Amino acid sequence: FPIERIRNFSIIAHIDHGKSTLADRLLEMTGAISHRESREQLLDAMDLERERGITIKAHTVRLVYRAKDGQDYLLNLIDTPGHVDFTYEVSRSLAACEGALLVVDASQGVEAQTIANAYLAIENNVHIIPVINKIDLPGAEVEKTKDEISDAVGVDGDDSLLISAKEGLGVPDVLEAIVKLVPPPVTSPGKMLKALLFDAWFDPFQGAVILVRVFNGRISVGDRFKLFSTQKTHEVLSIGANTPKRISLESLGPGEVGFIVSGIKSVQETRIGDTLVLDSDPSPEPFPGFHEAKPLVFCGLFPTETEQYNELKEALEKLRLNDASFTYELETSLALGFGFRCGFLGLLHMEIIQERLEREFNLTLISTAPTVVYRVKVAGRPDDELSVVNPSDLPPAGQIDEIFEPFITGTLLLPSEFLGPVMSLCQDRRAIQKELKYLDAKRVSLSYEMPLNEIVLDFYDRLKSITKGYASFDYEWLGYRPSILVKVDVLINGEQVDALSFIVHEDKAYNRGKALVEKLKEVIPRQMFEVAIQAAIGSRIIARQTIGAMRKNVLAKCYGGDISRKRKLLEKQKEGKKRMKQIGRVEMPQEAFMAVLRVS
Ligand code: GDP
Ligand code: MG
Repeated sequence: FPIERIRNFSIIAHIDHGKSTLADRLLEMTGAISHRESREQLLDAMDLERERGITIKAHTVRLVYRAKDGQDYLLNLIDTPGHVDFTYEVSRSLAACEGALLVVDASQGVEAQTIANAYLAIENNVHIIPVINKIDLPGAEVEKTKDEISDAVGVDGDDSLLISAKEGLGVPDVLEAIVKLVPPPVTSPGKMLKALLFDAWFDPFQGAVILVRVFNGRISVGDRFKLFSTQKTHEVLSIGANTPKRISLESLGPGEVGFIVSGIKSVQETRIGDTLVLDSDPSPEPFPGFHEAKPLVFCGLFPTETEQYNELKEALEKLRLNDASFTYELETSLALGFGFRCGFLGLLHMEIIQERLEREFNLTLISTAPTVVYRVKVAGRPDDELSVVNPSDLPPAGQIDEIFEPFITGTLLLPSEFLGPVMSLCQDRRAIQKELKYLDAKRVSLSYEMPLNEIVLDFYDRLKSITKGYASFDYEWLGYRPSILVKVDVLINGEQVDALSFIVHEDKAYNRGKALVEKLKEVIPRQMFEVAIQAAIGSRIIARQTIGAMRKNVLAKCYGGDISRKRKLLEKQKEGKKRMKQIGRVEMPQEAFMAVLRVS
């Protein structure tokens, strides 16, 4: 394809606004798939993605479209991950595009992710085409949505295409708009190869497969190329694209997108955002702003059955093959035994990995409450900075010079009726308000600087419940700030349970500690003996609760009674046992390790 007939574009949207449905329609209308083949949301391959209706890994398809001008155009639809946890990947995918369809649900209007994604597109110099979807719904408010797009996103909402992706209405106009409005790629003729690596995945037969967008020059089968970040050389074994069927290509020229098989063994050697150059290039220039996606949220994962430790290790190794952004290392907990401290891009990423471990690998896990990475300056060692990813690793207060905690910028969009309660929630989470803007009489957008450790503590669920699900939230990384933090420990019958320790702002330590022991009293079942639960800062006990000893056998009330009821009760107990962990003499359920999330 000549470069002036190539169009590289993404679809960006808030979750559930219809991105996948529109992608399916585009595939169908360009004949890439027949209507018969079209399953719902063809691009969301992984089971989990389908179930949760989110896109975890980006997928890219190459479509050929015969436009009204009679010419064939090559359209590369570059799918972006749909969640804040993957912002960096979204940004790199957008860097491979010249245009983006910004899909907004006409019945919901602009949401936090609409804005976040639109900003990423603007930062990447991508032309935005606003698309208002779901106009078939009785609750569709097209005019209002146009205004919101103009106000909140800064592109003219009146230019929006009006469509129903579900019914196919207006979708042909979307294809025409892509051809007319998305600029063709530009290239510097005569320059050597420069390509952007924007996705990678693991194939059991071919190793790491990388997805690239060529900016200058050409890459062909047999070429030797270098990855800028590792400076390692690889040979191009094959090149291909998804249409969505896999096709083979001989080479990729300027403006083109495709995947390359090159014998790279694992995705750990591939960095999203990296530059590909020819091995023979004497003075290669990498793309600017390249950085690695670093895990922001950490938790401990432990098998409930000690024997499952090796299985867990193998499962983590397998998942990591395909996901360079999550990390794990051995963690030994006095309370929970051998397990792993795992790092994730965010809370959703964490949930996804946990769910996959349990589902695909049949493991039963105990996870500890999520925490963030603190930076600690230790007294007497001014040049060293400790990264603390496990609360129990925080040095004693006396050895700490200064602690820094991560901050984010949070954007919230909500109906104005919930403004009061949401503002007090944010205030309670130590958030600093930066902006308050009415999009119209009924919708407000808020911007806050907030400590990430308050977000990982159940902020999102709390926000959803306060606003009956009507608020949306998105955040981006801000940086580290000095803070006054302490570690709260929990003791069960006098023994410290390391897996329950948490780090919290000094002003909140007392209340959280007190609420946590109350919560633990609720979730820890009665034992044959009395159980004392205490919270402590250093050696100072700040709260205490006691669980009385069990008085009689639960089965007693079934004696002489209905046998099936007794069996049911036993089974129920067995179910409950699955996620129990013996801490000293005390049986603790999974909820106990998450209890700190419920008390914030
Ligand atoms: P995504 O999260 O942005 O990928 O959204 P999906 O494409 O998964 O769509 C979310 C939900 O909205 C699904 O239940 C779709 O069937 C539905 N949906 C998508 N487009 C339309 C539309 O034009 N009209 C209606 N009524 N529903 C739609
Ligand atoms: Mg989707």
